[in-house]
Amino acid sequence: MPVVARSEFELIGKYFARLGAERSDVRIGVGDDGAVLVPHASRELVVVTDTLVEGVHFPVDSAATSIGHRAFAVNLSDLAAMGAEPAWGLLALTLPRADEDWLEQFARAAGDLCRRHGVALVGGDTTRGPLTITVTLMGLVPIGVALERGGGQPGDAIFVSGSPGDAAAGLALEQNRLHVADAMSAQILRDRFLFPTPRCELGLALRGLASACIDVSDGLGGDLEKLCAASGCGAEVDAAALPISEPLAKAVGRELAREYALTGGDDYELIFTVPLARLGAMNAAIARGLGPVTRIGSLVSGNGVRVSTRGAVMQFSGAGFDHFAR
Ligand code: ADP
Ligand code: MG
Repeated sequence: MPVVARSEFELIGKYFARLGAERSDVRIGVGDDGAVLVPHASRELVVVTDTLVEGVHFPVDSAATSIGHRAFAVNLSDLAAMGAEPAWGLLALTLPRADEDWLEQFARAAGDLCRRHGVALVGGDTTRGPLTITVTLMGLVPIGVALERGGGQPGDAIFVSGSPGDAAAGLALEQNRLHVADAMSAQILRDRFLFPTPRCELGLALRGLASACIDVSDGLGGDLEKLCAASGCGAEVDAAALPISEPLAKAVGRELAREYALTGGDDYELIFTVPLARLGAMNAAIARGLGPVTRIGSLVSGNGVRVSTRGAVMQFSGAGFDHFAR
């Protein structure tokens, strides 16, 4: 039983039937009862899904372009963290109404990002209700080489990509919880929340190099804690080594910027660990242009995440670092 009117299905056909990349491994895409895909015999399939709910994962009345971008970016980030090459996508869209301008902008932003990463949208579902977007992506990885959270060992170096904390400041700006005098910095930070960059190329390059990997969706400290728990070890992070962007430092000062970097969410950067024996290969990869990555500490025996700052050592505690408790 269709939940939306027939004309609205025509809109879906118009905006979603050919969204993203064209791929020769899609035998049947949008339009039949199911998609028929042609998986490669020498590849494993990596499947991820994430839901965005209006008012929970993005502010009410966010731009449709940002919602379309983020719905796919957060899933691409999960594929990146697994070292998988993005291939196919499904989109379950719950809309309060069929607004053609909104759909056009949503689909354009989603399509741009999907094409950039080789994703063909092969199906989905469309229903009426509170604005909710669920994207499922499938990616491919050669057999046995997917990155996992659990491969880290004491002694491994910990790296993070990009500049964590920017997106949390950007969201605070969007929600008028933060005010920044410098308009240029404010816009850069807002865009880091509204249009995050999934680190797909980095994830692919880390196959065979990283011992463990996770993407940062809930905050660097908490997500590093998850990597540690899966790897059965602890972590020591040097607060002074955290890569703080100029816009974030300008916006909130260096001290608070470190708090944003450690506890803010929505970064969609990668945290990964590299065994010391592969650090040479890692540095060579960085020299060849691996992208913006920074060493922030080491895995240690034990458990939990400790952060050293000016000689003092603080223990991470779920909600944040004791040091930063106000
Ligand atoms: P059914 O009623 O058989 O479940 P639908 O009428 O819901 O099928 O969908 C028809 C076709 O359109 C299917 O191929 C489905 O995958 C696709 N589709 C529906 N909604 C979307 C969407 N939001 N994005 C992409 N494809 C969609
Ligand atoms: Mg059907």
